[in-house]
Amino acid sequence: MTARIIDGKALADAVRLDVARRVQELKQQGIVPGLAVVLVGEDPASQVYVRNKAAACEKAGLYSRVIRLDADITEAALLDQVDQLNQDDRVHGILVQLPLPRHMDAAKVIEAIDARKDVDGFHVSNAGLLMTGQPLFRPCTPYGIMKMLESEEVSLWGAEAVIVGASNIVGKPMAMLMLAKGATVTLCNSKTRDLGAQTRRADVLVVATGKPGIVTGDMIKPGAVVIDVGINRTEQGKLVGDVDYPSAREVAGAITPVPGGVGPMTIAMLLVNTLEAAERSVVATPVA
Ligand code: NDP
Repeated sequence: MTARIIDGKALADAVRLDVARRVQELKQQGIVPGLAVVLVGEDPASQVYVRNKAAACEKAGLYSRVIRLDADITEAALLDQVDQLNQDDRVHGILVQLPLPRHMDAAKVIEAIDARKDVDGFHVSNAGLLMTGQPLFRPCTPYGIMKMLESEEVSLWGAEAVIVGASNIVGKPMAMLMLAKGATVTLCNSKTRDLGAQTRRADVLVVATGKPGIVTGDMIKPGAVVIDVGINRTEQGKLVGDVDYPSAREVAGAITPVPGGVGPMTIAMLLVNTLEAAERSVVATPVA
């Protein structure tokens, strides 16, 4: 069997078109959805991500502002910047690009973001709302994966979903979203014994570890849907996922490529979250 390739780029383009249409509708009501991205330091990967996010906003007609701060800025100064953005009516979404320099407490910085503007969905209030089944913002990567599964008509009801990687930004929220759709969810981490025994049970397998090639074809149930979140650069400069694509393709029923799979959807869902924050701000505005 050779797996169907799930084209994340094409789906992301469709999502972005829909966002652009809804942005125009909001503009007719005098609202321009706005995203502020805060970048601290010069991390090269972060710079690329931030540039891509800003470009995607502009293309879809959103207002975007990138705030670049020196790596040696104090945590207090960063918190002050976040507070200014919290107060700014032109900004509906605030994203602080991670990782932050070591001298900063990332959790504290994220807690400082107004939860109604937390378009990454990382604030504890938003994590709690997601966990209790009343999400305000869904973290962009798992949200994008849910959209991909929906567009592929993959039913999670009663399905075995196995997630490899349990970070706050991918694995854990992924588990909550899949559970809410009726899946039986297994969440694996670096201490999991016999990873293959877990992954081989999966009807839907999501891999998000940052370990290139950790899941190989022999660890996949024939016909399973495989979602590869990993973004790793080889010594030759090639981008690869966490799944060994050549062997996995021969066994899976459907698979996301790297690049061109989950990555483009993550950015598209950031636009959706920002747009929806702006739409909610209209509803929340008190009528005089
Ligand atoms: P983290 O480093 O925060 O978390 C990695 C997780 O993988 C941890 O839970 C860790 O376990 C687990 N893990 C590590 N080694 C193993 C192992 N041998 N077996 C099982 N589990 C293991 O990573 P992120 O979640 O932030 O990112 C994961 C990958 O996804 C990275 O490649 C990142 O670049 C990519 N990514 C891609 C995005 C996209 O848009 N495509 C967005 C976000 C991330 P433990 O908890 O025990 O340490």
